[in-house]
Amino acid sequence: MEEQNTCTHDCSTCGADCASRGESEIQKEPLNPASSVRHVIGVVSGKGGVGKSMVTSMLATEMRRRSWGVAVLDADITGPSVPKAFGVSGGVEVSGETMLPAYTKTGIQLMSVNLLLEDASSPVVWRGPVIAGAVKQFWTDVIWTDVDYMFVDMPPGTGDVPLTVFQSLPLDGIIIVTTPQELVSMIVEKAVNMAKLMNIPILGMVENMSYAICPDCGKEIPLFGASCAEEVAKEYGIPLLAKIPLDGKLTALVDKGVIELMENEYITPAADAVEGL
Ligand code: ADP
Repeated sequence: MEEQNTCTHDCSTCGADCASRGESEIQKEPLNPASSVRHVIGVVSGKGGVGKSMVTSMLATEMRRRSWGVAVLDADITGPSVPKAFGVSGGVEVSGETMLPAYTKTGIQLMSVNLLLEDASSPVVWRGPVIAGAVKQFWTDVIWTDVDYMFVDMPPGTGDVPLTVFQSLPLDGIIIVTTPQELVSMIVEKAVNMAKLMNIPILGMVENMSYAICPDCGKEIPLFGASCAEEVAKEYGIPLLAKIPLDGKLTALVDKGVIELMENEYITPAADAVEGL
């Protein structure tokens, strides 16, 4: 009772760990009034290089093929992965306080820090809060048109930037991307705990580089030994949405910037899960 009487609702001047602190700190950023975004799905991973951008790009491609309005908000500035996969290097229009996203060949709307840099190969040496601010601006200042599914390529890990993204965007669910090697560590557990803490549903887990395909005979080779993806998914009570092999064709498509030409069905069950939201 005492707490309610004295609460000024200004948590910056009060150290009490009360219920209103939780509410005020998890303030979602407002979407630009001119935008329309129906579902927001975060794609997360424990560390870089596991194929999070690959999975984001494949999911966006598949959902676009199903005729949905699709967007990718690239919040992972560690490299120009998503724009590169789509062969997009510019096309963002800035007008006053607002921005229009770039469009891929099949019409996926795309926004990324890397599209705003003059030289995409130069490292982004911004500190966490600046990166988090840029990501929030992509939500508040970009005009997203008729988006049914927005995929947010989250920065890897469970540090400050992913935490801010988790807190400021109204995520409907997250997909955890991992590799067989990572599964044996605590990385998945950390991502699961973070999502639970933020009260965001986990749509499921995608195991990338599960196995390799022999280019000669097509045989599946378990590069990292037998996968334990099923057991891990069961342990945390989350669905295993897909097992994607290490496939040279995928690397080639990304290198040429034509991921939208992919001819496999690896991501189909994950896209079904997103569609079922
Ligand atoms: P992350 O976003 O997790 O840092 P990326 O998606 O950028 O990782 O993937 C890292 C590299 O591995 C990229 O060059 C990408 O093209 C390649 N790659 C990722 N997944 C696969 C796969 N299943 N088969 C072949 N190459 C892959």
